Amino acid sequence: MLRDTWAEISLSRIRENMLNIRRSLPGSVKLMAVVKANGYGHGDIESAKAAMNAGADYLAVAYLEEAVRLRDAGLQLPILVLTPIRPEHVPLALKHDLSLTVTSAKWFCEMRNFKPCGSACKLRVHAKMDTGLGRIGIRTKQEWDELVPWLHAEDVEMDGFYTHFATAGQEDTRFLEQQAARFLDMKEWARASGLAIRHYHCAGSVAALRFPHLAMDMVRIGAAMYGFYPAKLACPVKLEPALSLHSRLIQVKKLAKGEYIGYDNSYQAKEEEWIGTVPIGYADGWAQRMQGTDVLIGGRRAPIAGKISMDQLMIKLPGPFAEGTPVTLIGTQGGKRITFAELAAHIGSVAQEVSASLGVRITRTYKDIEEVRAKWDKTTWPDDISQAVI
Ligand SMILES: *Cc1c(COP(=O)(O)O)cnc(C)c1O
Repeated sequence: MLRDTWAEISLSRIRENMLNIRRSLPGSVKLMAVVKANGYGHGDIESAKAAMNAGADYLAVAYLEEAVRLRDAGLQLPILVLTPIRPEHVPLALKHDLSLTVTSAKWFCEMRNFKPCGSACKLRVHAKMDTGLGRIGIRTKQEWDELVPWLHAEDVEMDGFYTHFATAGQEDTRFLEQQAARFLDMKEWARASGLAIRHYHCAGSVAALRFPHLAMDMVRIGAAMYGFYPAKLACPVKLEPALSLHSRLIQVKKLAKGEYIGYDNSYQAKEEEWIGTVPIGYADGWAQRMQGTDVLIGGRRAPIAGKISMDQLMIKLPGPFAEGTPVTLIGTQGGKRITFAELAAHIGSVAQEVSASLGVRITRTYKDIEEVRAKWDKTTWPDDISQAVI
């Protein structure tokens, strides 16, 4: 690691979170571990392995490239690509044995140019229904009826039928109930079509934990696996964030009253002040919206001073500190704590936006990797993990 900014990730925490989620659901419910966006910033391959070790049955990613990465790393669980892929990429998906999300007859029709009907390999698909999120999926009975004949093809395997909720994290459950009712109606369409569908699924993390009766055949767990749950709701299982973020001071200086810090003179010293520079900026995912939050140094809180720049930010130190002193941006130091929930509240978003934004320049270190190697099953770990250990 050449740089003084790193994220520390506990794979045993991810595993424990998944085990706790597993225990809270009926044994027949399958667990799909969602590792899109580099495992919400935690490392996709490593998170997938931790989830597999906790008994995950299925993996999911947003895009085709993400799925190919997992296959290239040797992961063999079924993988669902949550976003429809281009018809011309179907041969690539088949080569990597992926499950695809389908939302229209038109896609199937175009896809047939690239996978001639009847060729030996079966195309495994999940039909996505839009019950109210308004993002992707089939909305009407007519759209479904147009799709059905394509789904009956002998080289198509109906692995799933699913939807996604818009308001699972809201206290008011009325819209979620409407969506669930709509999905039950749509399930009737599916039954009436005579297709043998293997998995009906609708719940992401919050819906699965809050409303276990909606778990159906499978739940899609992303946020909760990394330890995230809406702050305003009581979490029914024990979840612990798996990631902490650290850096070190690269410069310390004493300012005279009236001197400026940062672009646009965005901070001015009100008195004689100590200012430290931390090598992390908006290009690393520490967005300018983070201005106004604190970091930890010497077991104390220190506010960000002025605008966050691309590669660095400045903090107001509680006194003189040596260059090289550790700074914690997420996590604990001397009994003080900066939580994902606090940062998410500040930027008006959710914890997973903070973790998923952490850029490629931030080295991920897996602090319990030796323990994981010794205690877990015989899954092979990619070589680059050990290189990341500090
Ligand atoms: C990202 C995603 C999930 C995971 O949601 P979490 O709330 O993070 O558990 C589930 N389903 C779909 C369709 C998704 O896009």
